[in-house]
Amino acid sequence: MFLMIGISQGRKDISSDQLVICGQCGQYGRYQVFMTFSQLLLFFIPCFRWGRKYYVQMSCCGTVYELDPAVGEEISRGSGREIRQQDLTLVSGGRTARMIRRCPACGYQTDEDFDFCPKCGERLSRE
Ligand SMILES: [Zn+2]
Ligand SMILES: [Zn+2]
Repeated sequence: MFLMIGISQGRKDISSDQLVICGQCGQYGRYQVFMTFSQLLLFFIPCFRWGRKYYVQMSCCGTVYELDPAVGEEISRGSGREIRQQDLTLVSGGRTARMIRRCPACGYQTDEDFDFCPKCGERLSRE
């Protein structure tokens, strides 16, 4: 007989419905809290977890922050603890809310920060 041991990465979503104005895109968004961890599987049954990390993802633009683990613990226990900006460390910026500009003359579209159309030189309008 041999022992089936494996290690997998887990992710658990923690409900939180705190509505905030996003520091990245300036829109209203929700903090979506989740936890990642490593787990040891014995015959496909998780029996040991370690390396917990808490993250927050903005619902508006997908920006990811790492959450202070002490605060994460509290929230995962359902304390309703409010997340403050200082509990968060930016991990990756989300989609930036970029303006799509379209050339009125030739219809060329770009999300680059051009004032004039790179194709025909016409002044670009913002949409
Ligand atoms: Zn945002
Ligand atoms: Zn053009």
